[in-house]
Amino acid sequence: MGKVSIGLRGWRFDEEDVFTDAGGWKPLEQIPKEPRHRLVRLQVVMNKPCDACYLIHGDEEIQRCRVASIVYGEPLDEVLLCDEHEADFLFWFRERGGSTIAGEETFRDAFHEWFDDGGRAPDGYGGMDHVEEAPEDLPDLRDPEELYEDDDLLADERPDFDDDGGDTDGDGAPDEGDDDLDVDDLDLDREYPS
Ligand SMILES: [Zn+2]
Repeated sequence: MGKVSIGLRGWRFDEEDVFTDAGGWKPLEQIPKEPRHRLVRLQVVMNKPCDACYLIHGDEEIQRCRVASIVYGEPLDEVLLCDEHEADFLFWFRERGGSTIAGEETFRDAFHEWFDDGGRAPDGYGGMDHVEEAPEDLPDLRDPEELYEDDDLLADERPDFDDDGGDTDGDGAPDEGDDDLDVDDLDLDREYPS
């Protein structure tokens, strides 16, 4: 079996990790930890704004942000991008030292700072050739909360487009950042553009 993207481009999954021989979704408990973390995380970050767009427009003009279609990095430290801003990320990753801190907790912040400082790819900078034409839908993850109770994988400080202030933890207030996360505990595969 090959590799597939699910939901967003960027992260790749081994088909045998996530699909049964009959082609259905494996139960979440049977999916190895690393792809399972990504799947659960995808549920959280799907339909969120592109990080770069959000740095430009902010909360006030969130409706001008494009919805992210690409994800790079580690769950919890992932970078979300739209088609337009993917080239900026790849330029930073390849030419501005991003690849040297892949997997580190500073990864996302470093890209954000570079972009916020006006860092951009040169005009016409090549992006990735993504094979997938149409990302697949996410599996119907029934109650990931049962598996990930108190787990930060389900929290995200990014705002939603429906303007609820990004209150994914349901406490009635905008979520706080995830600076206290211990990414080392996740021990995930690293997968990056080359
Ligand atoms: Zn964007």
